[in-house]
Amino acid sequence: MSEFQVVIGLEVHLQLFTNTKAFCGCSTAFGKVPNSQTCPVCLGLPGSLPVLNKKVLEYAIKVALALSCQVNEFVKFDRKNYYYPDLPKNYQISQFDLPLANQGFLDIEIKDTVKRIRIRRVHLEEDAGKLIHDENKDFSLVDYNRSGIPLLEIVSEPDINSTQEAYEYLTNLKLILKYLDVSDCDMEKGSLRCDANISLRKFGEKQLGVKAELKNMNSFKAVKQALQFELERQSHLLTNNQTIIQETRLWDAHNQVTVAMRTKEESQDYRYFPEPDLVPFIISKEEIEKIRNSLPESAKQRFLRFIKVYGLSEYDANLLIQDKDLSLYFEECLKLFSQPKRICNWITTSLLSELNSRKLQIRELNLSPDDLVELIKFVDQGRISNLVAKEVLTQMLDNRKKASTIIQEKNLAQLSDVKELESFCEEVIKENPKSIQDFKSGKENALMFLVGCVMRKSQGKANPKIAAEILKRRL
Ligand code: ADP
Ligand code: MG
Ligand code: ZN
Repeated sequence: MSEFQVVIGLEVHLQLFTNTKAFCGCSTAFGKVPNSQTCPVCLGLPGSLPVLNKKVLEYAIKVALALSCQVNEFVKFDRKNYYYPDLPKNYQISQFDLPLANQGFLDIEIKDTVKRIRIRRVHLEEDAGKLIHDENKDFSLVDYNRSGIPLLEIVSEPDINSTQEAYEYLTNLKLILKYLDVSDCDMEKGSLRCDANISLRKFGEKQLGVKAELKNMNSFKAVKQALQFELERQSHLLTNNQTIIQETRLWDAHNQVTVAMRTKEESQDYRYFPEPDLVPFIISKEEIEKIRNSLPESAKQRFLRFIKVYGLSEYDANLLIQDKDLSLYFEECLKLFSQPKRICNWITTSLLSELNSRKLQIRELNLSPDDLVELIKFVDQGRISNLVAKEVLTQMLDNRKKASTIIQEKNLAQLSDVKELESFCEEVIKENPKSIQDFKSGKENALMFLVGCVMRKSQGKANPKIAAEILKRRL
């Protein structure tokens, strides 16, 4: 197997979340009644004429600039001709010889070294409708709500040399796109889709091998699995002196295999020609610069700022910026309580684990920054222990109540009353003669253990600092 080098190039399709479609005024909202968001243009009725949505161009240029591309000032559209029931015009408006942008790149980190993956082109096109096949019926349905939704195609050079690199490329790309606020980048909803091209060649060989194009993966993990399967399939064929045919293969997630779908068509099969209904035009350099200056903070910039301004560790900063909304939430909390490390700790441990176990996003969680900050302050004021606070957080989320209400209702306030604590300590000392001995012979750990016993006896309510002081005094 090590005889071959794997070569991968990725084509990512991104739905742009403008309010209206690329060439008509229909809404792009997801999940509406089938065919309710259509008009003569996106239904391909004769005599209708497309008009480019200005926002689409702005969003597309944002992406191109964020990927360090050269934006071409001359904008031209082409027709890509093919027949399929989800394509009512029998052609797709796309860009052929003159893409919106090219010569970009994206850096990925692999085993602590940075590798640059070149981006060949970024071009605009439109989405097709959605076919719905029901196995139990002898007909298919079509929904044209998706027809004409703006799509951006981001094509990499075949610079990717492992399935892990492919995964890193996609993860980084998605993070960049998410921060631009041009799409929700949700693979499950189909707003981000990836076709993966893969071939093998002998190490040292200059020429590219014959590739397969893989489709139908609905997560980055699936892309990686499909590539791994294909790598092994091709390697097996080549080792046995069999030829690989250029084809499109579908990932079958259930059986974890790729299946041949069709031999790949060449670009001449599409009979591309300039779209006569959309005249080419020029975007000025000034306009491009204006868009460049309007780019929001990138994930990378935010990462560096969190380290520099708030003194977070690289690890923490990275955890926070992986989720744009979470990093915003962090900063909202900071406005109420300027203790970056404390807040970061709470978010990256307790809050993240609540989010993961509930499979929710921060925006869906119903926990305002005020609520979280109130809880953290209770801990800092010594009103509740850290341990209890975690339990309070869970209950806040379960019952949508404020921390103060739960603490009051359940009588969870930290026990700082010396008398009460002393009686707990008394019991603990009686019950643990061995640890007392250990402590007296200088083992610091023994004290921690005893404090732990007091905590347990008090059901987590004891103030550990005071408990430790009492114990030390008594011993
Ligand atoms: P197609 O016309 O089949 O779509 P392109 O040449 O436009 O092919 O390339 C599409 C994608 O496939 C690009 O990301 C490119 O990097 C990648 N690619 C092209 N040739 C190969 C190859 N031999 N092996 C792996 N990837 C390839
Ligand atoms: Mg292609
Ligand atoms: Zn329409």
